[in-house]
Amino acid sequence: MKPIAFARAETVDEALIAVAARPNTVFLAGGTTLVDMLRIGAMEPDNVVDINRLPLTALEHTPDGGLRIGAMVRMSEVAADPGVRERFPFLSIALWKGASAQIRNMASMGGNLMQKVRCPQFRDIAYACNKREPGSGCGALDGLHRGNAVLGTSEHCFAMHPSDMANPLTALDAVVQVQGPRGIRSIPFDDFFLLPGATPHLEHPITSDELIIRIDVPPLPFAKNSHYLKVRDRESYEFAAASAAVALDLADGVVRDVRIGLGGVATKPWRARMAEDLLTGKPATKENFAAAAATELAAADDSHPMNRFKIELAQRTLVRTLETVAAQGDRK
Ligand SMILES: Cc1cc2nc3c(=O)[nH]c(=O)nc-3n(C[C@H](O)[C@H](O)[C@H](O)COP(=O)(O)OP(=O)(O)OC[C@H]3O[C@@H](n4cnc5c(N)ncnc54)[C@H](O)[C@@H]3O)c2cc1C
Repeated sequence: MKPIAFARAETVDEALIAVAARPNTVFLAGGTTLVDMLRIGAMEPDNVVDINRLPLTALEHTPDGGLRIGAMVRMSEVAADPGVRERFPFLSIALWKGASAQIRNMASMGGNLMQKVRCPQFRDIAYACNKREPGSGCGALDGLHRGNAVLGTSEHCFAMHPSDMANPLTALDAVVQVQGPRGIRSIPFDDFFLLPGATPHLEHPITSDELIIRIDVPPLPFAKNSHYLKVRDRESYEFAAASAAVALDLADGVVRDVRIGLGGVATKPWRARMAEDLLTGKPATKENFAAAAATELAAADDSHPMNRFKIELAQRTLVRTLETVAAQGDRK
């Protein structure tokens, strides 16, 4: 590993000055992704700025019922927060289902949004990877791709976005607050993750001199009636093969409103708007749930042999989650 200069920032301004001063500088939060990247050579910064002392550690419940989550709040803190568990249970569950206890205690909310894909070819520099090295090709096409995406794919990349918590956050229309030399800007959650297209190395619309400072979650009273189902090869310490984050507003057995985020199957946290539109105003029946899931997955990419099982699995996962939340709603 090549030598890397290390600095520690005490304030947001210090961190921003440190990245502006030297090219090829990255932020170090919990380090649970970054240190792996440095070890395997998938990222090769010259400088690292530790942001663990920045005052971005507050988790606030806003008077209108939303959340303001500092970028350096740890995953475990948000998962365990009584207000989050009560009013946004699917966010708490998604966080509990991620990684391991030790990792959740270290990993920050900002770092989770910026985590790197798990495609084996991205993480092995012996293979070509358009995301790691633009224009080099996609080693996953003929290589291992069982975990890869079926939605939002391109011929250049079909690596799956691995975050769990991002799926309820996309359903909640969260907003990512970013600070840089030009001030603070707000990025709607869906826009924060770029589809791979012809430029899979560009994953977010932020520049290297910008820092995530906070995630804002607007109020959504019916998020009280929500659930996150994560289907995976083993029950602990494993990424999703398919997952669904669902919040449902039911009145007399009819869907008044619904929010759906799908994970494990797409190149970004997937807001299932087609399924939402189809379900709104319809009776909450298994047939309607299945029709909505089929519509959302209708254009899924079935061209890769190892991962096409996900098209069926995603639909079953979504239907089961909708059924679970509908049953909860009926009991309330
Ligand atoms: C074995 C293992 C299993 C895992 N399983 C899961 C899982 O099941 N589900 C899941 O969702 N995640 C999982 N993860 C991923 C884990 O959640 C992420 O590694 C973690 O959230 C990253 O946060 P961090 O604070 O450690 O970020 P770091 O590793 O410090 O940083 C990650 C990246 O984000 C950048 N960064 C960090 N903070 C900021 C900021 N505020 N602004 C701008 N850029 C920033 C860094 O420069 C770096 O590029 C797993 C990780 C491991 C190692």
